[in-house]
Amino acid sequence: MSARLLDGVALARRLQQDLGPRVAAFTTRHGRPPGLGIVLVGDDPASQVYVRNKVRTGQEVGFRVDLERLPATATLDEVLAVVARLNASDAHDGILVQSPLPASMGHDAEQRVFDAITVQKDVDGFSPASVGLLSQNRAAIAAGTPSGVIELLLAEGIEMAGRHAVVVGRSDIVGKPMALLLLHRNATVTICHSRTRDLPAICRQADILVAAVGRPGLVTADWVKPGATVVDVGINRVTDPEVAAALFPEGHPRLAVFRDKGSVLVGDVHPNVADVAGALTPVPGGVGPLTIAMLMRNTLTAALVRAGEPVA
Ligand code: NAD
Repeated sequence: MSARLLDGVALARRLQQDLGPRVAAFTTRHGRPPGLGIVLVGDDPASQVYVRNKVRTGQEVGFRVDLERLPATATLDEVLAVVARLNASDAHDGILVQSPLPASMGHDAEQRVFDAITVQKDVDGFSPASVGLLSQNRAAIAAGTPSGVIELLLAEGIEMAGRHAVVVGRSDIVGKPMALLLLHRNATVTICHSRTRDLPAICRQADILVAAVGRPGLVTADWVKPGATVVDVGINRVTDPEVAAALFPEGHPRLAVFRDKGSVLVGDVHPNVADVAGALTPVPGGVGPLTIAMLMRNTLTAALVRAGEPVA
């Protein structure tokens, strides 16, 4: 069997196109566009790429996007002061602080910053108030990556109600909100993690298997029930030739990419899963592009909620 590939790029493009006229209408009604404040601290190269994409996409859909840059030497208090200013700003409907924050700010810096973002403007959905609302199925906004997965499953007509969904990974930004969103869609949800016993046996029970671990190729074909939907959230850059050789057979085009560039981007799901799964998200091009699209939707939602208008 060869799995149907679930195309996140096309869906992200559609979601973004749908937002354009809604953003324009908001701007006409309110005499200002929805505003997104993005805080970037330090020079982490990956963060700079993510932030650049977020700024560009936000501007494309018609938002006002303000990038607040602080040096790697900034203190936590300085970051909190920027968040406080954005919380109080009438022009900003959404606030996003790019993680990771510099390690020098302390291990709890991110949590303290997320705690400080007012819930109405928390477009990443990471604040404790947002998580509480999500757990009660009352959230207008939920974390972008797991929301994108739900959107993809809906768009592809993959039934969630009554199905057994297994989520591997229990992080606050992916695994836990993913499990809650699947639960709210009436799936029967199992959460697995690094201490789970006999992980392959539990994964084999899944009708919908979501891997959000950060280990290249962890989920192999023998972990997957034939015909299951497999969602690969992992984004891992492989630089070790042995790992690349264990993932791709000789002659595979991705192995050629690896040999050409010295690295290749892979998910948590082994390519051999495509022989067993019914549907599968590719990496890249599956879940990744949806994260930014959902951030954009969350920003418009935040603007509508603040304005007391229906989200629809
Ligand atoms: P994390 O490190 O915070 O959490 C990883 C989770 O995996 C933990 O809960 C841990 O218990 C579990 N785990 C670790 N080893 C395991 C094992 N051997 N077996 C079972 N479970 C194990 O990571 P995260 O932030 O949730 O990200 C997970 C992956 O998703 C990463 O590859 C990350 O790059 C990717 N990611 C992608 C997007 C996107 O836009 N597509 C967004 C966020 C994260």
